[in-house]
Amino acid sequence: MITIQDPKELQAVCRAWRAQGLSVALVPTMGYFHAGHLALMDRARPLADRLVVSLFVNPTQFGPGEDLDSYPRDPERDAALAESRGADVLFSPPPGAMYAPDHGTWIEVPDLAKGLCGASRPGHFRGVCTVVAKLFHLAGPDVAVFGEKDWQQLAIIRRMVRDLDFPVRIEAQPIVREADGLALSSRNVRLDEAERAQAPQIRQGLLMLQELASGGERSAARLQAALHEHFDAHLPLGEVDYIAIVDPVTLAPLSEVRKKALAAVAVQMKNARLIDNFLLEV
Ligand code: AMP
Repeated sequence: MITIQDPKELQAVCRAWRAQGLSVALVPTMGYFHAGHLALMDRARPLADRLVVSLFVNPTQFGPGEDLDSYPRDPERDAALAESRGADVLFSPPPGAMYAPDHGTWIEVPDLAKGLCGASRPGHFRGVCTVVAKLFHLAGPDVAVFGEKDWQQLAIIRRMVRDLDFPVRIEAQPIVREADGLALSSRNVRLDEAERAQAPQIRQGLLMLQELASGGERSAARLQAALHEHFDAHLPLGEVDYIAIVDPVTLAPLSEVRKKALAAVAVQMKNARLIDNFLLEV
């Protein structure tokens, strides 16, 4: 594995591969790898001849007052892990190499970004789309793998790729969880003991919604109310940011669960915002 910090060098390396007829897979990350990231790499590895893992804590997707400076980092461990999963390149540019001081071009998918996490993190998905578009232009991947943990992000990237004709296939990786159901996240290290003990209730609550839906409950409002009650009772250390029942593709709020509906939640703990989702099926 080689580590590349210069965007132009990544572009040259990937261009040379393509000229040799080699295909490229890309896994974009912000690092501090856990088993979720590794699952993305394992998924991507057999999909192409070459695997590029990017590690970039993208400043433009953090709002003022968010945790850009304190985002957990461990570049050496990350490099060893990426290499162990068969990455050919670890791309870890310094922020100044990705954004000119007068950078002013942005990609937005406002329709899909206005709700859910976008409502409480204005500008977040604009930063995500812009950096992912830049990574696509640098690596020119045939396929890129994203996690379903960030379902809204995945839906937005798919829409951006469709709308702007990026020649890349997007693959989705199911959520990797702790044994007790908590979705893995780099920010989980910030949970204190009591919060960590309650955090699996997010998953428990989502599973309860599936049971209610399977039992015939179709009303999104009643499902949302049931989840609020569950969190009031079992997750008192968390403050609910949103509980939403939406169309899995358009992310439009649903009033009734028909066939497939995405239940998505965000809960603010003291030092970490936790998100999770579940595809309800009836
Ligand atoms: P991040 O480093 O948190 O920006 O995440 C990089 C990629 O890993 C994104 O596509 C995430 O959706 C994905 N990811 C993060 N956590 C998980 C998880 N627990 N299971 C599956 N994918 C994940």
